[in-house]
Amino acid sequence: MAPDKVSILIIYTGGTIGMIKDPANGSLKLFDFKKIMGQIPEIKGLGFRIDAISFDPPIDSSDIDTSTWTKLAEIIEENYKEFDGFVILHGTDTMAYSASALSFMLEELAKPVIFTGAQLPIGALRTDGKENLITSIVIAGAKEYGKPVVPEVCIYFESKLSRGNRTTKVNAEHFNAFQSANCPYLAKAGVHLVYNREYVRYPGKFRQLVVHKDFNNHIAILKLFPGITPGYLDAVLEYKDLRGVVLETYGAGNAPTGSWFLDRIKKAVDKGIIILDVTQCSRGSVEMGRYETSLHLLNVGVISGYDITTEAATTKLMVLLAQNLGVDEVKMLLNKSLKGEITLP
Ligand code: ASP
Repeated sequence: MAPDKVSILIIYTGGTIGMIKDPANGSLKLFDFKKIMGQIPEIKGLGFRIDAISFDPPIDSSDIDTSTWTKLAEIIEENYKEFDGFVILHGTDTMAYSASALSFMLEELAKPVIFTGAQLPIGALRTDGKENLITSIVIAGAKEYGKPVVPEVCIYFESKLSRGNRTTKVNAEHFNAFQSANCPYLAKAGVHLVYNREYVRYPGKFRQLVVHKDFNNHIAILKLFPGITPGYLDAVLEYKDLRGVVLETYGAGNAPTGSWFLDRIKKAVDKGIIILDVTQCSRGSVEMGRYETSLHLLNVGVISGYDITTEAATTKLMVLLAQNLGVDEVKMLLNKSLKGEITLP
């Protein structure tokens, strides 16, 4: 093993990508990623040293929970020094949540962590999995002047590299399954792999990786809809252990103006529950105060999520609430871009 070879650790969690056709009966079965080099010989051509860890058993990403994120962060922490980059194979359904969570867990990350998956199994003839996997490995191993080109948690899917905490799954049918509506892609893969370096975040010098492994999941996602009832609001806001709410509002962060609504929101805020205003629109930002309908929210103590995705808001809240911080400090950090997850005005 040449010591100067680029080294990549593939972590296979499960999902559609990890299936291959059983030659005996033609059915799709889970694939042992430890044997990856034998199964996808093209990877050898990269000249990288590649190792793989498989979850046992692999899981559909609908079964991902916070303990899975802790496990992923621990694997990265344990192998951080030994590998130049990490590729996480993951089901697409909750990939945007996992990539967002890892981005907040891995503070001062200085190496690439690239999530990818597939809409068709790697064993299927028309699979999108091979290109997604091979290009993810290339990106995870890409260096310039000895430094990683993209030292961030990202999702690579269908020719596009996005910051993980800016990404949302938008298509259950097409290969083009993810969008990064409010942040430019960090790279695009065509004949050439073109990096959008001006948008890539680089860590400060001499900083050490810090891993946040805990979550407080006593939070709620409350999506507004015309006709929402006071009883429904009460059911959510009076949940005993509630610490935070991602309030999915209309347009630029707007919500009903009636006292039946605002009084309940104010009561929750006064109890110390953090309410973050996140728009239901996939593009654009919350602008509290632009309309009267959001000014009221601001006045009762709701804070702006700007253009954060629900996935990033949810995971950021859970990570921050698990740290020993006061309510005001959590609010202050929610209004800051910690890992490029929001565009501040
Ligand atoms: N249900 C699968 C999952 O998210 C779909 C996929 O892998 O894309 O695990």
